[in-house]
Amino acid sequence: MIRPLILCAALALSACNGASTAVSTAVSTRDAIPADLAGKIAKRLFGAARRPSAAPAEPFGSYAKGCAHGLEALPETGEAWQAMRLSRNRNWGHPQMIDLVEDLGRHMRGRGWAGIYVGDISQPRGGPMLTGHRSHQMGLDADIWLYPSDRIDLSRRAREDLSAISMRRSEGAYVNDRWTADQMELVRRAASDRRTARIFIFPGAKVWMCENATGNRDWLRKVRPWWGHHYHMHVRIACPRGAAHCENQSPIPPGDGCAEARQWQRNILNPPPPDPDAPAPAPRRDLTMADLPHQCADVLSAPSR
Ligand SMILES: [Zn+2]
Repeated sequence: MIRPLILCAALALSACNGASTAVSTAVSTRDAIPADLAGKIAKRLFGAARRPSAAPAEPFGSYAKGCAHGLEALPETGEAWQAMRLSRNRNWGHPQMIDLVEDLGRHMRGRGWAGIYVGDISQPRGGPMLTGHRSHQMGLDADIWLYPSDRIDLSRRAREDLSAISMRRSEGAYVNDRWTADQMELVRRAASDRRTARIFIFPGAKVWMCENATGNRDWLRKVRPWWGHHYHMHVRIACPRGAAHCENQSPIPPGDGCAEARQWQRNILNPPPPDPDAPAPAPRRDLTMADLPHQCADVLSAPSR
């Protein structure tokens, strides 16, 4: 809680003036969201933050209920990648996430692609978004297009307009003929990175990889079947070492997960009858600031980099 005070004092930034109320409240209630913020809809505040906080990189909370200090921008165009849909301003990630994405681009360039197209990572200060995604809140999730990029000199306009390519057929039970061994290499490389916790992709892709992966297959375990995810894969990295207020997802069950992926496939092809005893899904409500870790108030009020 002390950090914004130090930064404001040290940097004497005008941004701190606006934060002075929050800071003085924070001093008296060290481990809670200030009362005047608690009821506010979090996505409106985080969705309005245009720049990252200047504090050192640190994620707070969990993937679908969190925020982060010190996120870095993925350079819009790099040696082997381009950030897509720049108007969304979601090319912000923890330095480890940015590193991983850049490594992945270089790897695919070495395999004959021009590089990779990178979809949403996080907002400048993380947090819930006005549209899309429930996760991607700590700078530790990134969507990587499955599209085999043949050029990385797309204009900003082209990066808004270029259509992603779906790789699925039969509602995701199988891959279609756009899918090749290159997509498996992209997934394999990302899953083999020690920083990666999980990769989400449609069930047909996981089943295809279960049937076609040769050599070391340990990486398959991190590849998890999920709804959607047929235009891009979603790479989730683990909480960085030392991030004391970052909560990892529960561990992946043992094994390669191939039987589970085949079960997803069967359920797509022959949907099981609805369970009459299943509880009705709880209506989703917007997260308020009180739902987020208390550090997220500091993240919002911290001076910008
Ligand atoms: Zn995603």
